[in-house]
Amino acid sequence: MSDTSVRILPPVTALTEPYWTGCRKRELRLQQCDACGKYQFYPRILCSHCGHDSLSWRRVSGRGRIASFTVVRRPMTDAYPAPTMIALVDLDEGPRMMSSVVDAEPDSLHIGQAVRVDFAAWSEEISMPVFRIATEEASP
Ligand SMILES: [Zn+2]
Repeated sequence: MSDTSVRILPPVTALTEPYWTGCRKRELRLQQCDACGKYQFYPRILCSHCGHDSLSWRRVSGRGRIASFTVVRRPMTDAYPAPTMIALVDLDEGPRMMSSVVDAEPDSLHIGQAVRVDFAAWSEEISMPVFRIATEEASP
């Protein structure tokens, strides 16, 4: 029987290692296409916009807005306390990522709300990007 008090950790691969190294350093990094300049998330070996295979890792702002969200009111296991807020965040650089919103009242969330990345240490190797509500002054 598996231990339900332990979070399931993502595997770190050669492709995703720069992303997770960035998270450990509290930097959100995305791949940027060297040909068309667009950003993408999640990490891939080809640009999802133009198909080019030359991609570079860039530190990005960590700012975005909530595109959609849901509030999970029942814990999946002991490792994931509830309520927890899962959100799709449209990053200022373009990509949409799924993450969670922390330290907010579930009933206060709304679509379009400005958020800013933070990082939650899940293990020595894995720090997970999470988002906090941003003050409008911090997100021009
Ligand atoms: Zn491209």
